[in-house]
Amino acid sequence: RAKEAGKNTYQFFDAQMNAQTFERLLMESGLRQGLERQEFELHYQPQVSCDGRLEGVEALLRWRHPQLGLVPPGRFIPLAEETGLIKPIGAWVLREACHQMVAWDKLGFSVPRLAVNLSARQFEQHTLLHEVNDVLAVTGLAASRLELEITESMLMQNPQEAVSLLGELKALGVKLSVDDFGTGYSSLSTLKRYPLDYLKVDRSFVEGLPDDEDSAAITEAIIAMARKLKFTVIAEGVETAAQSAFLANAGCAILQGYYYSRPLPVAELQRWLAARQPALAEMAR
Ligand code: C2E
Ligand code: MG
Ligand code: MG
Ligand code: MG
Repeated sequence: RAKEAGKNTYQFFDAQMNAQTFERLLMESGLRQGLERQEFELHYQPQVSCDGRLEGVEALLRWRHPQLGLVPPGRFIPLAEETGLIKPIGAWVLREACHQMVAWDKLGFSVPRLAVNLSARQFEQHTLLHEVNDVLAVTGLAASRLELEITESMLMQNPQEAVSLLGELKALGVKLSVDDFGTGYSSLSTLKRYPLDYLKVDRSFVEGLPDDEDSAAITEAIIAMARKLKFTVIAEGVETAAQSAFLANAGCAILQGYYYSRPLPVAELQRWLAARQPALAEMAR
């Protein structure tokens, strides 16, 4: 019996391994082609101020794979980073999202600001500065409407280079934010060395609000300190009215999460905007 059970376990494990290996192979060969075949798409998640105004949207990448369906970024970005394909993919994200902003302007939707996630590999590159400069020139999007999201680990990996690259990006007029704050090892005082505008409090802190006392204390402390240091605070992963009220009360300026909206494909975001901006709905039809 034991032998049989062992064998079953092994077979199960083997089947699982095969499925994983198969998926990885599919993805590796597919990533490069995916870009050429235009299988990548951006969804946009609204960011809302505490008094209910739309502050901006965050562009979130998805891969519409012919066999795997809609693949979330967590499942292919690590591979794209390993293979270096994140560079052309990241460049596409930046161009696509900026063009979309200008398209919304023309349609009469007012989306004040666009946030784009950068990967560590893009951040290593000096071409990043040119890419950002070029896309602003080509689209005519005002630099101040573009926000680039980086993570703490990207700053820690190469602090000196980060200071100069961020300084150069800042000189273009774009906004800079730290994503997932609280998950890395940087302190607010360290972050103050960089020319950052926004601080995004990680979803893991928001999750426990308002009842978990530790989450509540930590979140309140982060927001209070960040405000004193002149960061604008954005909370991510806001899923309930109670979380939203707690964060607003704690002094958080901008809220983002399923409570307001999930990340939406372009057409759905436009419907969301039209419903919230009734006067503009007519024009956009
Ligand atoms: P992120 O930048 O921290 O983005 C927020 C993630 O939280 C998104 O997952 C979003 O769908 C999810 N989210 C938003 N609100 C809620 C909520 O209320 N509850 C819960 N449970 N989740 C919420 P997504 O789209 O799967 O993206 C995951 C990560 O992939 C992003 O985390 C970002 O680090 C990365 N990513 C996404 N797009 C890009 C991109 O274009 N380039 C790069 N380099 N990374 C990207
Ligand atoms: Mg982000
Ligand atoms: Mg985040
Ligand atoms: Mg996050």
